[in-house]
Amino acid sequence: MSVRLVLFGPPGAGKGTQAARLSERLCVPAISTGDIFRANIAGGTALGRQVVQYTSRGALVPDELTDDLVRDRLAQPDAADGFLLDGYPRNLAQVRSLDAMLVDAGTSLDAVVEITADADAVVDRLLKRATIEGRADDTEDVIRHRLDVYAEQTAPIAKVYADRGALVRVDGIGDVDEVTERLLHAIAPAAAR
Ligand code: AMP
Repeated sequence: MSVRLVLFGPPGAGKGTQAARLSERLCVPAISTGDIFRANIAGGTALGRQVVQYTSRGALVPDELTDDLVRDRLAQPDAADGFLLDGYPRNLAQVRSLDAMLVDAGTSLDAVVEITADADAVVDRLLKRATIEGRADDTEDVIRHRLDVYAEQTAPIAKVYADRGALVRVDGIGDVDEVTERLLHAIAPAAAR
């Protein structure tokens, strides 16, 4: 299927889990900027060394680095017929950069999906994930900071996409399978266009 999607939502809303499931169901690659940064940090690459100072404290990585990474990734052959961007764009400047990338590629987004979850639920989930996955940015202080960054910088992108008629909101609380079905149902009209 050729579908171009953006998935965003507060940390702990289940974005990564759902992105992997949607990627499989829709047969498009899930492109997670967070995963790419973590892989680079783990691999000790030059990019990893540049970004760890931001990711470790829950701050956004500078736009130039993030935009370049996404531009390169979207140019890979597997993204030519569709993709699911997980965690990008994350501020208004990145929305504009993505717009420019899509214009250059002669394509456009089919839908932008916001997974919603209230702050108490996400802090609980993230603290649980910390004990399971041991992610360096899942300590309580860093979680709180990531939520603030989300509210200040990322949440405003919803209005931009809503004004364009591209925003779909899906409740991320509940059984994982149920949320996947909700997402597929919400995306279906855009994916069918
Ligand atoms: P995530 O796995 O999506 O929660 O991302 C983990 C961390 O990677 C974030 O807290 C940021 O430090 C960084 N990051 C991921 N995506 C972006 C982005 N689009 N812009 C800037 N920083 C990002």
